[in-house]
Amino acid sequence: VKYVYFFGAGVTEGTAEMKNLLGGKGANLAEMTAIGLPVPAGFTLTTELCTEFYKNDRCYPEGLEAEVEANLTQLEKAMDKKFGDSANPLLLSVRSGGRVSMPGMMDTVLNLGLNDDTVQGLIEQSGDARFAYDSYRRFIQMYSNVVMGMSGSVLEHLLEHMKEVRDVELDTDLTADDLKQLVELFKNKIKETLGRAFPTDPKEQLWGAINAVFGSWMNPRAITYRKLNSIPAEWGTAVNVQAMVFGNMGNSCATGVAFTRNPSTGDNHFFGEFLLNAQGEDVVAGIRTPQPINKAGGDGSLPSLEEVMPDCYQQLMDIQQTLEKHYRDMQDIEFTIEKNKLYMLQTRGGKRTAKAAIKIAVDMVQEGLIDEKEAVLRVAPGQLDQLLHPSLDPKAVKDVIATGLPASPGAAGGEIVFSAEDAEEAKKLGLKVILVRIETSPEDIHGMHAAEGILTARGGMTSHAAVVARGMGKCCVAGCGGIKVDYAAQQFVTNSGEVFKKGDIVTLDGSTGEVMKGSVPTVQPELTGDFGLLMSWVDKFRRLKVRTNADTPLDAQVARQFGAEGIGLCRTEHMFFEHDRIMAVREMILSEDVEGRKGALAKILPMQKGDFLGLFREMKGLPVTIRLLDPPLHEFLPHTDKDIDELAAVMQVQPQLLKQKAEFLHEFNPMLGHRGCRLGMTFPEIYDMQVQAIMEAACELVKNEGYEIVPEIMIPLVGHVNELKVLRANAVRVVEEVINRYGIQVEYLIGTMIELPRAALTADEIAGEAEFFSFGTNDLTQTTFGLSRDDAGKFLPFYVNREVLAEDPFVVLDQEGVGQLVKIGCEKGRQARPGIKLGICGEHGGEPNSVIFCHDNGLDYVSCSPYRVPIARLAAAHAAL
Ligand code: PEP
Ligand code: MG
Repeated sequence: VKYVYFFGAGVTEGTAEMKNLLGGKGANLAEMTAIGLPVPAGFTLTTELCTEFYKNDRCYPEGLEAEVEANLTQLEKAMDKKFGDSANPLLLSVRSGGRVSMPGMMDTVLNLGLNDDTVQGLIEQSGDARFAYDSYRRFIQMYSNVVMGMSGSVLEHLLEHMKEVRDVELDTDLTADDLKQLVELFKNKIKETLGRAFPTDPKEQLWGAINAVFGSWMNPRAITYRKLNSIPAEWGTAVNVQAMVFGNMGNSCATGVAFTRNPSTGDNHFFGEFLLNAQGEDVVAGIRTPQPINKAGGDGSLPSLEEVMPDCYQQLMDIQQTLEKHYRDMQDIEFTIEKNKLYMLQTRGGKRTAKAAIKIAVDMVQEGLIDEKEAVLRVAPGQLDQLLHPSLDPKAVKDVIATGLPASPGAAGGEIVFSAEDAEEAKKLGLKVILVRIETSPEDIHGMHAAEGILTARGGMTSHAAVVARGMGKCCVAGCGGIKVDYAAQQFVTNSGEVFKKGDIVTLDGSTGEVMKGSVPTVQPELTGDFGLLMSWVDKFRRLKVRTNADTPLDAQVARQFGAEGIGLCRTEHMFFEHDRIMAVREMILSEDVEGRKGALAKILPMQKGDFLGLFREMKGLPVTIRLLDPPLHEFLPHTDKDIDELAAVMQVQPQLLKQKAEFLHEFNPMLGHRGCRLGMTFPEIYDMQVQAIMEAACELVKNEGYEIVPEIMIPLVGHVNELKVLRANAVRVVEEVINRYGIQVEYLIGTMIELPRAALTADEIAGEAEFFSFGTNDLTQTTFGLSRDDAGKFLPFYVNREVLAEDPFVVLDQEGVGQLVKIGCEKGRQARPGIKLGICGEHGGEPNSVIFCHDNGLDYVSCSPYRVPIARLAAAHAAL
């Protein structure tokens, strides 16, 4: 097995395609060498060697030493220097390089090969004793820390002491003699502290550094980073051993980093920074203020590379163009200039914002560098989220007071209010408010509408607040345990004891879960040209349709703008909370008999019909799925004595009687209680009224306005086919009655949600009664895991932090478990009714991995919150490509 790959003038053994074996850095160094760019020669020890090393208890395979020797000899030839030579020494850098970049997580050693002899050679080569001793002392500091495990502060302390004695401020004020002395002091201190001497043999130094870099793959920082970014430990890191070039050998030297295009805006302008007379780490460390690469990139206060070193600048410009053409992507590059000679030290695909990703992809298609397919694949679906909501101004200062779940993205600030009523009132006065609740319920919807953002102390990613806020495209921080909400005192208190009262201003970042004190400036989303163009390509490639979850014509309108192709879920309960309606609903629930209920429902019917007219009109003939009432009845009950008294007056009964009834309706486990189709079974009048409203709205539009509408009536929470048999028969009866009354032909579909395991497992029987299925993966996740969606926020984060679960299953569909039920449901459904229409309307419908799962399983559509529609479209295109 070959473990070492050389790169250097004449011979290059690796290519950019070999990232898995050579790591990203090594593969690209080889590639740059191959296309003739100036790269200091070197060699890469493979990631496979790293794996071997760990397999064999940190021992190397036989023959490796000889392989490294041979490469070292070749390197000496390429550089015309000798490793360990006192006249013309070759110095080396030893760096890690994984398949994907893990910035700053692993170790690096620079200036390797220095000792009391070779430092003389370096003085000779550079003509600069100060530089040589400075490199030497840096090497000892780095090596003793990284390889020998000595605490960095000990030698740092000696350096500081030296500066005090010499009465100087900066490292650069120390003389060659000072630094030479410091080298001696360092070596003595190391011996004294560790009981062993600093190695003088360059070969020993080299192996020490290689061991340390391979060893750093398993340091705690790297392990944590891998976990956070799902990078498998088996991948291992490569080690790159490369000839040193010096950016710190005087003012004809420099080092810098640059992007071939602007990584935050995507503008096609070369963009970067450099430092004169410095080593690479100095740019990143931020000790000195870097200078701009080109005149246009700076504010004019510091001279640019273009002005200081015009020749090197021109060469760098040419190289960056070559690299972009070659890689056909925006590159992030590192370079060093040694005595007016330019060297490339790294190139890789540059990280970029969503905005930049889109602009770069679209521009590159227009430049003929990539095709539309590739452009679509260049933008990560999840990234789009950044673009679709206002976001915090990245330049803003923020004072974070607590952090909760990033439940609905976007950013917003305003005065705190603690009730939906106060939110509405404030809104009427033209104020911006943040609604703070322990948790929200459907009763708070109007307040959520009025608020700029929602903050809850309890609840998870599919808690009521989270789902509704996402639907509205409002930012929401949910389950923020770091605040204690006190409604009575109209205040909340943070963990640090700070008190926030009604009217105080906070800002929420729903993309990070941060809650900030005061008002933090935000910037608006831009859905202009490039975005639209990219999305038009997206639509060419996807098969899966994308619908939206929308309860109001306004939601529907927003979703249409984002490209929704229908409504996959209209949750009718959200239509019931407006004041007059909730009174009627309560009257209906608390009525003694059928007649009383019918009377109350008759009041709601015209309003409900109006809702559907609005939705159908907005959707202009696109499919609309309307779900009949789903939540537990008790959610509609009056809570306060005032509510009860008001209702009692309307119903002309004793308040005491209503109170008793309300208590009777209390449930211990409402999510598994009297909800969903069970309501339709026990109170058939409710569903009858809703079906009548749906069909009357549809018939009127068909008859009077010439619409083509095929309403899809959806019955929730079915667990047994017999439930659906009964409810379907009821619905058909009402539908036929309405159609006959209007005397026209209107097609309709009656289907069900698959959101209980039993429904999935018996989907063949259920399909006999259903013309479509919509997987309600919120409830299906809840019931499959036995995990309460409203309470999980208290403990699920713990599971995710400890990696008991890789992700929150309410966010990312659990494909092995819940996904299996979806698969079974699809298969059995199709068996019994070939061509049955299949969709998903749980929150997962807008999550990229889950969308891909839906594509792979042949679903017809996904349905998600309006603001997630573009994400789902892009994910569906990725799935198809
Ligand atoms: C679901 O359960 O996935 C669903 C879409 O319905 P809801 O969230 O309204 O329970
Ligand atoms: Mg549900």
